[in-house]
This record gives sequence, structure tokens and C-alpha cells, in this order.
Amino acid sequence: MVKPNVRPAADEPCWWFIVVAGEVIVTDASPRVPFGCQADLPLPDLQDYTVLQLGELRERPCYLVMADYGDQQFSGLGEFQSLRVLLFEDEALFAMAGRASQVAEFLLTHRYCGRCGSRMETIEWELATQCSRCSHRCYPRISPCIIVAIRRGRQLLLARGKRHKAGLYSILAGFVETGESLEQALHREVMEEAGIEVNQLQYHFSQPWPFPHSLMMGYTAVWQAGQLRLDPLELEQGDWFDIDQLPQTPPAGTIAHRLIELSKALITAES
Ligand SMILES: [Zn+2]
Repeated sequence: MVKPNVRPAADEPCWWFIVVAGEVIVTDASPRVPFGCQADLPLPDLQDYTVLQLGELRERPCYLVMADYGDQQFSGLGEFQSLRVLLFEDEALFAMAGRASQVAEFLLTHRYCGRCGSRMETIEWELATQCSRCSHRCYPRISPCIIVAIRRGRQLLLARGKRHKAGLYSILAGFVETGESLEQALHREVMEEAGIEVNQLQYHFSQPWPFPHSLMMGYTAVWQAGQLRLDPLELEQGDWFDIDQLPQTPPAGTIAHRLIELSKALITAES
């Protein structure tokens, strides 16, 4: 649980997540994020910074330090790098870095009230901000997304999004819109992006995706009707691929990878 008003003691060994704009200080050597007592690390005077306790990792407390753009004060610890570099190395560390990044993003974007424009204050007992004038309260934003592996016989539907790196194919995904259930969002996204109908929706697992604040809800489904008709605004290429001849797909550590592997197992069990 995030504790907004707890600061580390100087001799307490802890994890340091020093964040700015979706980037976090990463060290050259393991464990890749600065770890140790405040007194032993080349840290600046933290009185000048927003510091929050984020929870625990491997029985040690984790602290978020919100750095400033272009801040050189932390250069003795490591370099600011994208959260993505931690994704494929250490799942628990990535999850905590993701939390740090999302909490920092929330505090940075909720300094003023969206209703009346007055200054917001941080609530002491939970992670929220509240307007000093009209009492409007805000909580960190989480944006649910559905992600679905669709199978047809021995084939899987895979497509290349415009932002995917060259040669990489993945399963379909999209944001849930206001007022939609997850199932409605799934049917709508699949129709909009691929022009097909699906059934046998099955929810399996989820993954927080801190770019910047998504929560991926992982489904499998089965093709029901319709010819593939890709949305050219979202997708460059896509097709039904036999599970024995899949193109390059997302690596282990991603929910897409888990859903593709699960679908292959389902197809094998069904055939
Ligand atoms: Zn207000």
C-alpha cells in the first residue's frame, strides 16, 4: 500500500525508485534499481523532493523519489531509462517500478483541481489529492484495456500495430470506453479492428501496463463469423497463422505472450 507521508530512516536499507516522466534510474549491475541505506548512497538532500513509500519488495521498503526534468542530482546512482528495460529481467521489480511511475504521474498531473482550478493537496492516509477550495477528490487513474487471443481451428489471429517494431505480430487489444463492460469492449474492438465476430469469451488473467496507466485484461475467444477486414488506421498487417508457423510474437513477460501460449495449448487439446 502506498503511504504518502512515510520517509525512510537514514540507516534503513531500502529500494529507491527515482522517477521522471516515465523513466526510472537504472543501475549497471544487478539488482538494476538502487538499493541501500540513504546514508550509504550518493543521494541529494531529499527534503527538497517529494518522497513516498510504495510498499515492499523482497521484505524491504520501496521509496519513490520524484525527480525534476534534467535533474543531475542522481547521476551518481545510475541513468534514467525507460521502464521497459526492466520488463524482461525481473517481474516483481518491473511491477514496483511501474507503480512508482504511475504514482509520480498521478501526483504530477493532479496539482490543480480539474473542477475549479485551485491548488490540490495530498491526502495523508491514502493515495489521493483533494482540492483545498471545493473538496473535489482524485485518485490515480487506471485505464482498463482488453487483450484477446482469437483462434479459428488450428490458427491464431495476429496483427501488426502501426507502433509495433518491424516483424513483430501480436494479438488484438484496445481500451474500454466509458460505460462499456469488458465483454462489450472486446466485441466492439474485434469488430472495429478485424471485422469479425467472436464467441466463447474466457477471461484468464491481467497485467498492469504502466505506459502510462493501463490494466490489461487477458481473454481468449473463438472466431464465429466474418471475413478478416483490418482497420488501416490501427493495423498495418494481419492474418490467421497456423500455430506451428507463427511469426515473431511478443516476448515472455508480456500478457500477450502468455495468452498466445495458452491458446496454442487450447488448440492442441481441442484437436
Ligand atoms: Zn476545486
